[in-house]
This record gives sequence, structure tokens and C-alpha cells, in this order.
Amino acid sequence: MPHPFTWVPAARQRHASCDPVPGPGRAFPAEATVTTLCGREVTTERGEIPWLWETCPGCDEQARQLAGLPSRAAIAEQAARVREGS
Ligand SMILES: [Zn+2]
Repeated sequence: MPHPFTWVPAARQRHASCDPVPGPGRAFPAEATVTTLCGREVTTERGEIPWLWETCPGCDEQARQLAGLPSRAAIAEQAARVREGS
């Protein structure tokens, strides 16, 4: 099952959005206004460089929750426990 959100480069970060993607593609068109998981309204961008922007930390955490993955904090905590145990 696909996740209910789409990664989208906008405002110089890679955000994620639960807005429906228009048309047949899997990505938003450029110059669309979307609401991100971190609660911002941004204008989308397309192209090679925007996809390499840094991931928005707020969207990253929200996307992990939606995907049923542990948060980055939980992963870091687990890694610290492993290091202590060795
Ligand atoms: Zn964001």
C-alpha cells in the first residue's frame, strides 16, 4: 500500500505532503501550492537540484509516524544503548 504522503521539494527543503497529487504522475507539478506535514503552505519546485535539498526535519518525523517507522530520536536512542552495551 502506498504511503498517504508525497515528498515534494519546496522552499529550499524536501517536505512531505498529504495533499492529493493531481494527474497521473507520482509527484506534484512545479508551482503548485501544497500543505506540508510540518504545517506550512509552500510552492512546489521540480528539477534535479531541488530533490537534493535537505529533508525538512518536521516532515521527516511526521512521515515516519505515518509510515509506522521509528522516529530518528528513537533510532539514535537505540544506537546509544547498543554502544553502551558493547
Ligand atoms: Zn516540512
